[in-house]
Amino acid sequence: MVYDIMIIGGGTAGLTSGIYGARAGKSVIVFEGSFAGGLIVTSPFIENYPAIQNISGPEFATNLLSQAEAFGTKIVYESIIEVDIEGKIKRVISESNEYIGKTVIIATGTKRRKLGFENEDKLIGKGLSYCAYCDGAFFRGKDVAVVGGGNTALEDALYLSDICKTVYIIHRRDKLKGEKAISNEIFKRENIKFLTNTVVDDIIGDKVLNLVKIRNLKTGEIRDLSVNGLFVAIGQIPQNEIFSPPVTLDSSGYIVATEDCKTNVSGVFVAGDCRVKKLRQLITASADGATAVNSAIEYLNGGK
Ligand code: NAP
Repeated sequence: MVYDIMIIGGGTAGLTSGIYGARAGKSVIVFEGSFAGGLIVTSPFIENYPAIQNISGPEFATNLLSQAEAFGTKIVYESIIEVDIEGKIKRVISESNEYIGKTVIIATGTKRRKLGFENEDKLIGKGLSYCAYCDGAFFRGKDVAVVGGGNTALEDALYLSDICKTVYIIHRRDKLKGEKAISNEIFKRENIKFLTNTVVDDIIGDKVLNLVKIRNLKTGEIRDLSVNGLFVAIGQIPQNEIFSPPVTLDSSGYIVATEDCKTNVSGVFVAGDCRVKKLRQLITASADGATAVNSAIEYLNGGK
C-alpha cells in the first residue's frame, strides 16, 4: 500500500498530524519506536494547555492516541532506522518492514540529555532515572536529588516532594531557568533544598547508585551527597541523524523548516520539538502537527 502520509514519531506532534490527516480522508500511518505519546508521558502534570486546567502526561497521551485511532490513523510500533525520501515515492524502513508513501512528516521529538558518566547507562533503573513520574514511587520517604533548573527539573522536583523525604535540586547556576509559576510553588515546599552553582562531579556505583559526588562551581569544593535516587533533567537532544542528508539540520541537530513546517526536501515536513523553534511546549507541538499535515495535504493536492 502507498500511504498518503507517513508520520515518523507518535508523540504529541505526530499524533496531532495523524488526527488532522485522517480526518481529512488521507491514509495515515504513524511509526512509534517505544510508547505513544512521546516525552509528555513522563510529565507528572500539565497545567498550561488551554482549556485543560490540569491533566497528567499519561492521561493526555492516552486521550491523544485513542483520538488518532478513532479517526482511522494506523499506529505501528516499529523504529524507523533508514529512510529514502528524496523521490516522489518515499520509503521508510524499520528493522522488520519497509513502507512506502507520498509524503513524510518527521515528528521524532527529542530524547533526554545524559550527564555523560561512563557508568550512567548501567545505573538507569538502579538509583538513576530520567523520569520522576515513572520511578518516583520507588523512593517513597527517601532522599533524592534532581539535576537541572529547567521546567522538567522543577516539575520533577515538585512531584517528588509529595513522595520523598527530601528533594535536592542540583543546578549549575544560581537562578532557575524554568517558569515563574512553577518556581514559586517550589519555593513554598519545605522539603525541597537548593544546591545552586553546583554540578554532579561523579556517580559512584556498579550494581546500584551508591553515592553522588557534587562540586560547587564557585568554591571548587567536592562533597558527597547522600541520596537514594538521582533524577536527571538537564534538557533534551534531537534524534534526526537518519534524515540528514538530504534534510538540512542546524548546528545542534534540529531540522530547519519554514513556519509552514516544510523542510528543504519536497514532500517532507517536520513537526514538534525536533525542528528549529523557540518555544518547545505541548501547544507548539500540537500546532506544528496540524500545520505540517496541512502542508502535506496541500502537497498531495498538487501544491509544492
Ligand atoms: P531545558 O529548559 O533546556 O533546561 C535544562 C536545564 O538543565 C537547564 O537549567 C540547564 O542549565 C541544565 N543543564 C543543561 N546541561 C547540563 C549539564 N550538562 N549539566 C548540568 N546541568 C545542565 O530542558 P527541559 O527542562 O527538559 O525543558 C525542555 C523544553 O521543554 C523547554 O523548552 C521547556 O520549557 C519545555 N517544557 C515545558 C514544560 C511546561 O510547559 N510545563 C514542562 C517541561 C518542559 P542552564 O540553566 O545553565 O542552561
